[in-house]
Amino acid sequence: MRLIKIILEYKCSKCSNQVKSEKIECICPKCEGLLFIEPQKVEIININELKIEKGDFWKFHKFFPPIEKKFRISLGEGGTNCIKSKNLGKALGLNNLFLKDETQNPTNSFKDRAGALLVSHAKSQNYEKIICASAGNQGASIAAYSSYAGIECLNIIPKRIDEGKRAQMYAYDSVVEIKGDTVDESIIYAEKKSKEVNFYQATAELNPLTIEAQKTIGYEIIGDIGVPDWLIVPMGSGGCLISIWKGLNELKELGVINELPKMVGAQVEGWSPIVDKYSLKKHVESSLKVTHTLGILVKNPRYKDLAAKIIKASNGEAITINENLILTAERKLARSEGIFAEPASALTVASVEQLKDQNIIDKNEKICCLITGSGLKAPYVLQALTHKSKTVGIGALLSTKLKILQLIELDSMYGTQIQKNLGDISLPAVYQHLSELEIRDLIAREKKQEKRIYYNITPKGKKVLEAIQTLVDLF
Ligand SMILES: [Zn+2]
Repeated sequence: MRLIKIILEYKCSKCSNQVKSEKIECICPKCEGLLFIEPQKVEIININELKIEKGDFWKFHKFFPPIEKKFRISLGEGGTNCIKSKNLGKALGLNNLFLKDETQNPTNSFKDRAGALLVSHAKSQNYEKIICASAGNQGASIAAYSSYAGIECLNIIPKRIDEGKRAQMYAYDSVVEIKGDTVDESIIYAEKKSKEVNFYQATAELNPLTIEAQKTIGYEIIGDIGVPDWLIVPMGSGGCLISIWKGLNELKELGVINELPKMVGAQVEGWSPIVDKYSLKKHVESSLKVTHTLGILVKNPRYKDLAAKIIKASNGEAITINENLILTAERKLARSEGIFAEPASALTVASVEQLKDQNIIDKNEKICCLITGSGLKAPYVLQALTHKSKTVGIGALLSTKLKILQLIELDSMYGTQIQKNLGDISLPAVYQHLSELEIRDLIAREKKQEKRIYYNITPKGKKVLEAIQTLVDLF
């Protein structure tokens, strides 16, 4: 097959150094800043051109480095709904709440845009093997598109990822290798490995075409609803937020839009390196055990500084959301709008609620929440949802005690900490449960710093918890 080498033009986000290369590059050779692809020279476009049909992602091809039509692969990605909320907005007292539903993509996440662009690029450059380190979504997507393109795919994943995403990788016939506790270690491994073997590098953080693909989310939002006042995005590496921001800025440069939205970046409480960076807090690494379930854990996000800078520049907000509130938001979203989102996506809905409560957003402002991926990818959530309905029969009291045992099994905690994690419960009620659990020798006290009393699970408590879990699973 005739092969045309595509010259990629990059610009360093730190020193503005311009780099031209046939290869995928991500680090500036001069200052080690992050490289991004320079915008393509497109003619002035009409805002209506940004409104596309479902699956018509490649309609944006002129905004990408030139990949010939015959190499372009599509599984029907892009053109996802950006719909005005019917019930949720009303429930939250918001008149203009919109949901950009990326669960509608072929492998049920926004990453299919990157899947299409990166695998097409790999195909155009005659690669036979692709490597992708990810915490799940990008890996599942690359696996699907690789299979379709007849390219071998190697997925590198950390020990804990959402089972649904791992299942997708197997289903799409990818080879899966587990490396590290968090995705950071998987990325380092994939970077090394691609230098040893001639793999196409499809790791999001190592391939700036990912940003190019994802910026189209911004285009579509503008095409569908114009410029929102607030755009709310979940953050793992921060890549999604900066992609959308890049896309919107390109549109502004082209004169398609005159203003930019305020960007809100949301992370899970207890694991929020970008929000900490934004608020100049010293990031304290929290226990992996506590929040491993939410699946967007990145220790040292590659785009941390840039994402924090963008949020500031846009007059936006960086916020953290408690894990329990995320699950509540997930239920609300599913029950009021029929969208079953993964926890990372429900973060955005929980964020809207928080910003509304704090009077930061006004009821008439136009707000757009990005729903990045499907809840079916995270069986932990399925468990939490089904578990809830199952334990109702055993009684709400037992259910709360069970939750307390589950919480302190992960880590010792003090009273108000437990209350915060449980959500809707008073402190006296928490202490009542604690004392009843203590009398039965299921938990024990421990005095730590500041004379605070911490509660630990006892060996007996562990056994009881195990037994209940078995019962709940059985029935
Ligand atoms: Zn540089």
